[in-house]
Amino acid sequence: MKTSDTAIRAAIVDFCARAGADPLLVQGAGGNVSWKERDVLWIKASGTWLSEAAQEDIFVPVDLAHLRDAVAAGEFSASPKALGDSGLRPSIETMLHSLMPHPVVVHVHAVEVLAHLVRADWLDGLQQALDSSGIAWAGVPYRKPGAELAEAVAQALAGAEASVVFLQNHGVVIGGADIAQVEAALAVLTTALANPLAAAAPAAAAPAELAAGTTTYALLEDAVVQRLATEPALRARLEREWVLYPDHVVFLGPEAYVVADTDALAQAAGAHAPELAFVRDVGVYAAPGFSKAKQVQLRCYADVIVRQAPQHVLHPLGASEIGALLNWDAERYRMSLSK
Ligand SMILES: [Zn+2]
Repeated sequence: MKTSDTAIRAAIVDFCARAGADPLLVQGAGGNVSWKERDVLWIKASGTWLSEAAQEDIFVPVDLAHLRDAVAAGEFSASPKALGDSGLRPSIETMLHSLMPHPVVVHVHAVEVLAHLVRADWLDGLQQALDSSGIAWAGVPYRKPGAELAEAVAQALAGAEASVVFLQNHGVVIGGADIAQVEAALAVLTTALANPLAAAAPAAAAPAELAAGTTTYALLEDAVVQRLATEPALRARLEREWVLYPDHVVFLGPEAYVVADTDALAQAAGAHAPELAFVRDVGVYAAPGFSKAKQVQLRCYADVIVRQAPQHVLHPLGASEIGALLNWDAERYRMSLSK
């Protein structure tokens, strides 16, 4: 059984619990954190929630020397060797963490950052916002998480001394000497990249429940999420820019189910009752069993969308990128653990 440095672990667990409780930084099982001790990389286990770091052991020790050898040989799809016997699987992003030279690495889908990363002109936007920040950063184009993303990050780092790597249509990776340094950099980023919110329009009260076929749909109790159905400008984005980053499509599927009215939902809710439905000008409804993991992903999407100004052109993921995410065993495993 591997043991870790108590003080380092305590500081990291404290950060994970706090960041994990902030939906603008971490959503559900998304995001991951690691630290390196000699030849061991401690990495968050796939499917676990950073918010639960203080209650349960979410970290797996893996053989760091093995991963570094694999990176040196260009074998980015090498499987990490877990050193413990916890039965937990190391994060999909273990290779990415191992190739960052920093002792502590944090990867999050921070909303203020993500809102920039889904725009067509994301690189220009970052350049303008971070010009005077003093942060050394690199940006990599969208790649499927895992081996392809790790390879792209390795290439970006080879040409630049960067402690922050922005991932198009995905999130940010921050490396530092310790967790305090990483947390300070994260705070600089979320402040420099903060987005004004689209003003909310008043909405009429929506029915708490909709009976449609054999399914009773419940109105989601989240005022920001409800704006996706009741505000035409936001709804237009939902209809044409639904898949903006990987966790969204993995948890919420490749299409938004938008219906004109409650009758249309009742008609549709036969054999293929959608789990989540956007009823135009009425509200956002979910079938029983719509999980907490899906609720936090939906809130994340709404948080990203209300941070777009009318002139922002977004860059959704394409059909082949979506297909690669949905037909992937690693994600099926993560979904099987979701709550
Ligand atoms: Zn990610």
